[in-house]
Amino acid sequence: MLTINGCRIVSMDGPVIEQGSIEIDGTLIRAVRGRAAARPSGEVLDAGGLTAIPGMGQMHGHITAYMHTMDTAPVNAQPAALKAIQATAFARNALGAGITMWRDIGGHAHIDIHLKRAINHGLVPGPRMLVCGRWLGRSGGHGSGLSEPADGAEALRRAVREQIAAGADGIKLIASGGVMEASEDPFAMEYTEEELAAAVDEARRAGRWVTVHSHPASATRAAIRAGARSIEHATELPDDVIDLLISRGVYIVPTFAAYWKLSREGTEIGLDPELVRIASRVWDRKIEYFMKAARAGVKYATGTDTGAPRVFHHEIALELELMVRVGVAPEQALRAATVNCAELMGWTDTLGTLSPGKDADIVLVDGHPLEDISATRQVRHVFKAGRYYAPEPPVPPLP
Ligand SMILES: [Zn+2]
Repeated sequence: MLTINGCRIVSMDGPVIEQGSIEIDGTLIRAVRGRAAARPSGEVLDAGGLTAIPGMGQMHGHITAYMHTMDTAPVNAQPAALKAIQATAFARNALGAGITMWRDIGGHAHIDIHLKRAINHGLVPGPRMLVCGRWLGRSGGHGSGLSEPADGAEALRRAVREQIAAGADGIKLIASGGVMEASEDPFAMEYTEEELAAAVDEARRAGRWVTVHSHPASATRAAIRAGARSIEHATELPDDVIDLLISRGVYIVPTFAAYWKLSREGTEIGLDPELVRIASRVWDRKIEYFMKAARAGVKYATGTDTGAPRVFHHEIALELELMVRVGVAPEQALRAATVNCAELMGWTDTLGTLSPGKDADIVLVDGHPLEDISATRQVRHVFKAGRYYAPEPPVPPLP
């Protein structure tokens, strides 16, 4: 048994404890106590001055690559083996940042699928993962050169089957434009409702979920009606879309971090000025809609679109900071990163809160995240399933 002693506890399952203790027994949380233990038995981690929070989630990750610019050529030129080795470093970076849940929604060479296996076998440290394999988009559409092209309902059914056969837990579809090329319109719909419905039907019959990249209301509407579990980016959220999201219990992952970075640092990165303008337009549109949706009760979770330029694999704290910046209370931002991620992953019974009987995924941060959300950057200790990981400085991506 191990006792984390003397820390503040933000369990997300009850009031904040100012100075308490958490007992870990094997892989599970045995007790969460409202006072520090005077003479704890077994191992002790003295955590005075720190705050314990549940393990956090990255719900829009791309662990198999990092793009220094929007040019896909350098990433596509990297050998798969090198990408795989880099992915193990990113997994360690993420775990060290307090990320214990990772949903990978579009990768290269099925490295995501094999990395998940390697982590689950204990070969390399990393978050618990759910993975999509290759992401599916139409020929010439958003993300061409990175995504797997599939056009028409029949081709989509086949592509979905291929990802599932390879080991995907879910399917990622690109239903609209995005911000990769100055010539594309993020608010153009790229898959028809018929195509989306065919892909979702195929996935569902195999017991898999589907998440859909969509900026415009048109594609989001169609994706929800088709049965998507979640919407990535989800920029335009008019009232009828808010109603649909709530009535179907569909999650959105707004990915503020990517649009913040592209609009603020795009010029420095050397992106086409038109692309920087498009990113700013998307950011503004997000601000226009997001808080109304959040207040109405739309469910949202943290994801950064990591792998995009300047959006690093160890930086989930940025997404929480940006949520607070756009108007979310720190408690709600932390909920989006913990409880909500666990629900989106289908892991509510075992993760998301610091509660007796749940898996011991515990992050100790310096500072009080409900007073200053940036405390989520100051990760000092990480436990995943009761096992201790000492955070190390994150290693940079390949040049
Ligand atoms: Zn993405």
